[in-house]
Amino acid sequence: MLSRRTYLEIDLKAYKQNLEFFQRKVSPTKVMAVVKSNAYGHGAVGISKAAVESGIDMLAVAFLEEGIELRNHGINVPILVFNYFDPEYSSLALENNLTITAYSIEQMKGIKSVLGNQIRKLKVHVNVDTGMKRIGPSANECTSLIEYLLENGFSIEGIYSHFAVADEAIEQFSIEQRKAFESAVKTLESKGIKIPVKHLCNSAGSLRFNREEYNYIRLGIASYGLQPSGDFVIPELKPVLTWKSAVSYVKTLKPGDSVSYGRTFIADRKMVVSTVPVGYGDGYSRGLSNRGEVLIGGKRCKILGRVCMDQFVVDVTHLHKKPKIGDEVVLIGSQGEERITVEEIADLLNTINYEITCTITARVPRLYTGKE
Ligand SMILES: *Cc1c(COP(=O)(O)O)cnc(C)c1O
Repeated sequence: MLSRRTYLEIDLKAYKQNLEFFQRKVSPTKVMAVVKSNAYGHGAVGISKAAVESGIDMLAVAFLEEGIELRNHGINVPILVFNYFDPEYSSLALENNLTITAYSIEQMKGIKSVLGNQIRKLKVHVNVDTGMKRIGPSANECTSLIEYLLENGFSIEGIYSHFAVADEAIEQFSIEQRKAFESAVKTLESKGIKIPVKHLCNSAGSLRFNREEYNYIRLGIASYGLQPSGDFVIPELKPVLTWKSAVSYVKTLKPGDSVSYGRTFIADRKMVVSTVPVGYGDGYSRGLSNRGEVLIGGKRCKILGRVCMDQFVVDVTHLHKKPKIGDEVVLIGSQGEERITVEEIADLLNTINYEITCTITARVPRLYTGKE
């Protein structure tokens, strides 16, 4: 329902173009589409269907529930689960044909005790830690995990690692991580253990550190047309998400009038202002109070006072045409000649683009355009 004319427009054509761009760049390596955290806020089901339509043969999520949601919506390609789950839930991984990440002997013992000899059917990728220090044995220690898996009847399909600073201009640490990953693979091969699938690169790493012998890049942020780095720009990326709303009220302020909770904005002149029915309950951060801008009538309009849970007020004094109730407001995306990027909002809030789209809440409907 769009009673407040507020929604995310998700441009699936742009999404597919981003996938195709990377596919061309990294071929013969393939693209694994990362759709965790509701596809970085873009809607996991709609995005995953588009990925499969454009030929993607593997998806990745963080948690079991995310994979199960995709299965429940008819998505059949392999889905890699990157992260932790309590072994108690192991049979859900199996029933839903989800590929799990092995990162400790203790965890895999737990899974074995639940699944018994059904573990043969479980698809497993091993996560090797080459510098993130989140989960996974180090490159030196991963052999014992892998030997445990093989001795206990697990079938290992893949091995992977993850970059810590692939988004930074200085490449040294990433190159060391890649070396550690390759030495782990070599050590295994010297013991006669050959793991069929290897993957290392995220968005930021994929144009600089991929090797054609790697089977996949794991493409998240860049597939959504968002820049993976503050240090370099990939001009080909097409933003997928536009956040639209509508003017809910228009009024005039006189000098001395204050706006919103805490009276943090006080008019020093006569002003025309509009109200927008979006707030931090939608994931539009309160940190944008007195700082953020939106587009109305093709022009930037500054937020006045605090962002509330469900609404905020903007200055429209400078517009040639006074807005009317129902007029389009763009919070993210373009209108006329102007554009507000996710990166711009992230900079204002001292964070990264990832967090901005991930935190847009379920209250905002996602509408898909550019379907075939
Ligand atoms: C989230 C994630 C990715 C995707 O990273 P982007 O920077 O969004 O491309 C890849 N691999 C792992 C293990 C991840 O957790």
